[in-house]
Amino acid sequence: GPAQTGPIIRQLDEAAINRIAAGEVVERPASAVKELVENAIDAGATRIAVEIADGGKTLIRVTDDGCGMAPDDLPLALARHATSKIDGSDLLNIHSFGFRGEALASLGAVGRLTVTSRAAGQDGAEISVTGGKMGAVRPAALNGGTVITLRDLFFATPARLKFMRTDRAEAQAIGDVIKRLAMAEPSISFTLRDVSGGGDGRLTFRADAETGDLFDALHARLARIIGSEFADNSMRIDAEREGFRLTGCAGLPTYSRGAAVAQYLFVNGRPVRDRMLLGALRAGYMDVLSRDRHPVAALFVECEGALVDVNVHPAKSEVRFRDPGTVRGLIVSGLRHALAEAGHRASSTVAT
Ligand code: ADP
Ligand code: MG
Repeated sequence: GPAQTGPIIRQLDEAAINRIAAGEVVERPASAVKELVENAIDAGATRIAVEIADGGKTLIRVTDDGCGMAPDDLPLALARHATSKIDGSDLLNIHSFGFRGEALASLGAVGRLTVTSRAAGQDGAEISVTGGKMGAVRPAALNGGTVITLRDLFFATPARLKFMRTDRAEAQAIGDVIKRLAMAEPSISFTLRDVSGGGDGRLTFRADAETGDLFDALHARLARIIGSEFADNSMRIDAEREGFRLTGCAGLPTYSRGAAVAQYLFVNGRPVRDRMLLGALRAGYMDVLSRDRHPVAALFVECEGALVDVNVHPAKSEVRFRDPGTVRGLIVSGLRHALAEAGHRASSTVAT
């Protein structure tokens, strides 16, 4: 017969597929923490505790008091493309952090993952998956909520393991993730504890039950995360334009920094890193800050799901606006307006 000329095409097995996908979803320990904490938020938790060891490389444990999972649902939660959060028919209206159903499958493919959970009216149960191999569901004692333990991240993908930075750098990236999510959810209490004995790895952001007003809750949380000096030297931002709303807190020019480090941006409640939004923030302060100074701000853009696509990247930290010009204009004018109100009218601005 004819000689085989082309290479042989094979269907990859599930474990290999998950390891490949994990490369996009889980870049480093901080991305694992982000996925697990987002799951806890989606589960309606009011308290989320994160423990890490060795920069999250050997241990990440996230404990929440959310809705939990029924024993029968545990294998499904670990399966790829299985989610309780969307039904696939309306990708425009996503109100949860998760929707891709990839995080737990990915983490189980590249580490040793144990999920212990208990839903109301159900028995507690536990399941483990190691390097993509899933064990059986077994009974476990738990009052409620979910505990997810991830050990030895990337043990199954040694190439990725080599790209990890120092424990300290990874722990700092984890702290940054928690800070951003804690700003996005000021009514949830968060704790982060480094159990490997480093000592300085502890963050606590308690939700103040007394603060009924959303802005007050955000303001109190920003005081805790960025510093009380920021809270005392910032302006309340609230502006609207063509279906987009901008809220949050922006520092007075006198409270600026020498590097663009404390700039927190959120789109529909989701922390994002977006060049366009960062550029708009910079532009808003253009007339009142010198080139080497950088504003400090936590800004929240809200709009209908149809006006923004959050499904640009597996890590969901990038967004695409249908009309970026409108969003940019809203941010620039919202900031300039607040700055003018605070008495920082730029010299180049023509008085109206
Ligand atoms: P996604 O968040 O995109 O749905 P995940 O792989 O992160 O995908 O989680 C899969 C499913 O497991 C979720 O849809 C949810 O039903 C369940 N789940 C994960 N974490 C938790 C948790 N902490 N509490 C309750 N359910 C959870
Ligand atoms: Mg998720």
